[in-house]
Amino acid sequence: MASEVLLPTSPAEAASAFGDGSGVTVVAGGTIALPDITHGRMHPARVLMLARSGLDRIERSGGAVTIGAATPVAALVDGDEPLASAAAHVGDDEIRGQATVGGNLCASAGETPRGDLQAPLIALGARVRSAGAGGERVESLEDFLAADSSRLVLDVTYDDTPRSAGYAAAWRPHAHHYTILAVAAVREGGETRVAVTGGGPTGRRCPSVEAALAGGASTRDAAATVLDDVDPADDALASAWYRRRVLPGLVQKALDSLAG
Ligand SMILES: Cc1cc2nc3c(=O)[nH]c(=O)nc-3n(C[C@H](O)[C@H](O)[C@H](O)COP(=O)(O)OP(=O)(O)OC[C@H]3O[C@@H](n4cnc5c(N)ncnc54)[C@H](O)[C@@H]3O)c2cc1C
Repeated sequence: MASEVLLPTSPAEAASAFGDGSGVTVVAGGTIALPDITHGRMHPARVLMLARSGLDRIERSGGAVTIGAATPVAALVDGDEPLASAAAHVGDDEIRGQATVGGNLCASAGETPRGDLQAPLIALGARVRSAGAGGERVESLEDFLAADSSRLVLDVTYDDTPRSAGYAAAWRPHAHHYTILAVAAVREGGETRVAVTGGGPTGRRCPSVEAALAGGASTRDAAATVLDDVDPADDALASAWYRRRVLPGLVQKALDSLAG
């Protein structure tokens, strides 16, 4: 058991309690962390619980949407696409009610399916605000995921602009519909952003697909370049071979569902 449990009641208190993160284990919804602690896979000295931190709000103002790290996944289901479609397929009602956005961004994939919100948030151009060593920082979600840093996620923000969105996924038939692969696409103005979940340990943006589209390629030809962007691996859900075969078709489906 943890020797100390910290229960901040504001975002500022949470950042201060986290400090530079050394020796601190964050618990948000706890759908991953609590079983790990209960079964002795994690032995935290200090646990920072976000349940009362006030980081559970969605704000739409000043041309931006900001989602607090402790916002439950269930709160996204009726919101902006393609995030809503991804959120609707995370676990089941109980998991979606408990699991948080920050936990989803910080969950390492390992052998089990996690991080379904990463691709849609990358496609939405989300920025992550985090606290930790060196103070507060804002960076793109791609940079945050690539850095693999131990920081406290405070919130994610994306522009509140007109867009069209596409989402296509392959699920394993199961009570929880585990996502094998998912593709999120967003077109805003003249730019199309594309990202994949299930093609690696974290969500990945697809610069080759985007460049092909910008160069006038058909959706089919652009989709075929996705394997230059991600290198799928075998896991408990599906083989790398299967993922490589299925992924270009999913990318094309997501792109074809973009309006205009
Ligand atoms: C039955 C079941 C089904 C599931 N199905 C899916 C699924 O379909 N798709 C999917 O993506 N996931 C799934 N998950 C995994 C998990 O529920 C989600 O990824 C969830 O969003 C994790 O959020 P949490 O708040 O519960 O994280 P927690 O368990 O609280 O934390 C997870 C990790 O993130 C860290 N963390 C949490 N919040 C922060 C923060 N704000 N800043 C820094 N670090 C933080 C914790 O320290 C821990 O390492 C499933 C889990 C279960 C048990």
